[in-house]
Amino acid sequence: MTFHQPDAIRYYTFQSFDEEHIKHAVFTRKGGLSPEPWSSLNVGGLRGDDPQRVYQNRVLSFQAVGCDPASVYDVWQVHSTDVIWTNNSRPASVRHRKADAILTDRPEVTLFMRFGDCVPILLCDPAKGVVGIAHAGWMGTVNGIVVEVIRAMQTAYRCNPKDILAALGPSISVDHYEVGQEVVDLIESKFGRDANELLVRKNDSSHFDLWKANELLLETMGVRNIEIAGICTACNLQDWFSHRGESGRTGRFGALITLDD
Ligand SMILES: [Zn+2]
Repeated sequence: MTFHQPDAIRYYTFQSFDEEHIKHAVFTRKGGLSPEPWSSLNVGGLRGDDPQRVYQNRVLSFQAVGCDPASVYDVWQVHSTDVIWTNNSRPASVRHRKADAILTDRPEVTLFMRFGDCVPILLCDPAKGVVGIAHAGWMGTVNGIVVEVIRAMQTAYRCNPKDILAALGPSISVDHYEVGQEVVDLIESKFGRDANELLVRKNDSSHFDLWKANELLLETMGVRNIEIAGICTACNLQDWFSHRGESGRTGRFGALITLDD
């Protein structure tokens, strides 16, 4: 990833997307208006922070990368496998739909999501002019949100997985992602023999590798270009919000992607 800090706001971009006709960013927590424990660029609306500040933080984020704040399309992220493709932005008067992946082929729409340990998955098909973003925690990973979003790119936009670029942003690393036995059971039933590679046992606990699991699922779908940031949110609290790393008292950072016309 490449780091940018044009002003107070600091964000990262993926190298593999740099040459394409898209604009994207994964925003750190720096440069916003919110006080602790949301300091400072919190874009999560359900974390106890003032909604007006949360809104302003999103506007500042968009402006920092030259995107019109009114071009936003976002959803209510619920750890589902539901994918939405949209031709329009979402005006403030229109309620969020529930979903965990969004796609568009319209340059006037900017896709936006919020993260605080779950994996931000950015997608782009330069051949078909399609961009997407998905949200994958353990549940979305086990249930295959990333499989569903690639399928949706194929059916809705006739994308060829070989053309798709995928990138996994900062999120919780396997070292800091302990999961309970009920989650281990689900991982083993979903991934079969591959589960061994995705689960790390430490003393009496099990840890889940969200990066490797989503990479594996993308490869299964035929996606060849996958960039992994390899940045752990819980280890880098100066830059990222981490639900686990801050015991739930924290905010959410944003990520956006749009076609650059
Ligand atoms: Zn960590």
